[in-house]
Amino acid sequence: MAIQPEELVARGITVLVLDFDGVLAPHGAQAPTAEVVAWLRRCAVILGEEKIFILSNRPDPQRADYFRRMFPSFHFIAGVRKKPYPDGLLRVMELSGATPEEVVLLDDRLLTGVLATCLAGTGVIYITDPYVSLAKQPIAECFFMLLRYVERRYIALAGWLPG
Ligand SMILES: [Mg+2]
Repeated sequence: MAIQPEELVARGITVLVLDFDGVLAPHGAQAPTAEVVAWLRRCAVILGEEKIFILSNRPDPQRADYFRRMFPSFHFIAGVRKKPYPDGLLRVMELSGATPEEVVLLDDRLLTGVLATCLAGTGVIYITDPYVSLAKQPIAECFFMLLRYVERRYIALAGWLPG
């Protein structure tokens, strides 16, 4: 993970919100990769474990269990309307007491996560090199690669991103 928690703090970020699929692990995995676990531990030390939120459009019970066991003070958001609805990010601000400027979401999808941050007014870091495991989930991964490509082209054609 190239994003350094120290840099987030230097930018005034106090609350880190993480998408799961593509950001913490390849699509459909139940636990973050080993590299991400090490990074999460650093984030927890620097930001505080209770300032880290998981906001996935697939808040599976197995994933919730993982975080309950491994990072018990992280918040695992469930029971809200999926991104791009801003509900999950609004819940994060309600629980943390943080302003939108203090919150950043890391997400690999423009038309779900990134759009949700536009609606909620929080910061965003768009992950352009997501975790992909073609060996484990070839059909799902190809589908999401196509989806990411199409939405990038769509946004570029609309003039919001360099083509
Ligand atoms: Mg994702």
